[in-house]
Amino acid sequence: MKVYADNAATTRMSRNAIDTMVKYMEETYGNPSSLYTIGQKAKEALEEAREEVAKVINASPREITFTSGGSEADNQAIISAAALGAAKGKKHIISTAFEHHAVLHTLAKLEKEGFEVTLLDVHEDGIVRPEELEEAIREDTCLITIMYANNEIGTIQPVKEIGRIARAHGIIFHTDAVQAIGHIPIDVEESNIDMLSASAHKFHGPKGVGFLYARKGIRLQNIIEGGAQERGKRAGTENVPGIMAMAVALRDAAESMSETSPGMRARRDRLIKGLREIPHSALNGNEELRLPSNVNFCFEGIEGESLLLLLDQKGISASSGSACTSGSLDPSHVLLAIGRVHDVAHGSLRLSIGEDTTDDEVDYIIESVKEVVAYLRSFSPVWRDLESGKAKHIL
Ligand SMILES: *Cc1c(COP(=O)(O)O)cnc(C)c1O
Repeated sequence: MKVYADNAATTRMSRNAIDTMVKYMEETYGNPSSLYTIGQKAKEALEEAREEVAKVINASPREITFTSGGSEADNQAIISAAALGAAKGKKHIISTAFEHHAVLHTLAKLEKEGFEVTLLDVHEDGIVRPEELEEAIREDTCLITIMYANNEIGTIQPVKEIGRIARAHGIIFHTDAVQAIGHIPIDVEESNIDMLSASAHKFHGPKGVGFLYARKGIRLQNIIEGGAQERGKRAGTENVPGIMAMAVALRDAAESMSETSPGMRARRDRLIKGLREIPHSALNGNEELRLPSNVNFCFEGIEGESLLLLLDQKGISASSGSACTSGSLDPSHVLLAIGRVHDVAHGSLRLSIGEDTTDDEVDYIIESVKEVVAYLRSFSPVWRDLESGKAKHIL
């Protein structure tokens, strides 16, 4: 059996998104900045996509800037809000310890430029506490950037509460909604969100395209200098086929969400229930306040990488927080942020199911993970010490 259970890393493009992309490659190849008809056709298409995307989050089309994806949107949002703050002498930013690196690394860069960053605790359940946000706010706070849903453990943050607090203090609120958009309902008005990052390849659109929503009146800084595309806020000829495919994918995701979510939640919970039967294991992150797709476990006495490789041999694509793309063996900063100790964090497994994942596939995953964990433990020195009482079980 082949099971793709890494939808948090990327999703398979939908048929509709692929067809749309090909159609625009073949038929609407003009440069949107050109004045002749085929250029203007592309421009019109872009504006339709902008409307479509804006509608999904209850924004207006003028508030949408197309980018190369989630990372660029995060960079541009944070750098722009920081520049607005610095102009008023406000150089304090509040975020959390478990943001995506596109956020954390941008913040680290700003710290070198004299900004101060407070990273809020996300507690054992992977949820920010609004009262702690309120306490962290200072006179010179210019930005609150907190992700909508975490990419590793899937926990959904109290965004409405955060938005309310930010608005009450007149502070810009940015949210990295890359994992949330297209999967759970988002309303930037209702939640007082001032800036939001999105990426198409996390909701069955193409890679290399995304958007930044910035509320009217928030001036964006250019990250890429050049032509006057995107109202002068993002130079470079627009990725018309990619943007059109993104709009279609997002519309489809938003339209089918209420229909697909309950089934996904049920399969997620079935997966959680099955994996809990493995002794000395634990679910990471709050069980209810999490994406319908996300299951993340720690298993004592094993290495996440070995688990992944053996699952791959069984046809299952999953992910482990413990190996990062740089090839370092540092455990996931997300799991450390929720208080998992290094040894336990190393034995982690993220399974992110899709809308089309079946009960049979879920059962196959459970059976396979049980088998592989038992196998790995059978020759793990760490496990032997735990079982003999030389070392103490944590989970
Ligand atoms: C995937 C992801 C990103 C990066 O998006 P790209 O389009 O791949 O650059 C940023 N934040 C979160 C939470 C993500 O899951």
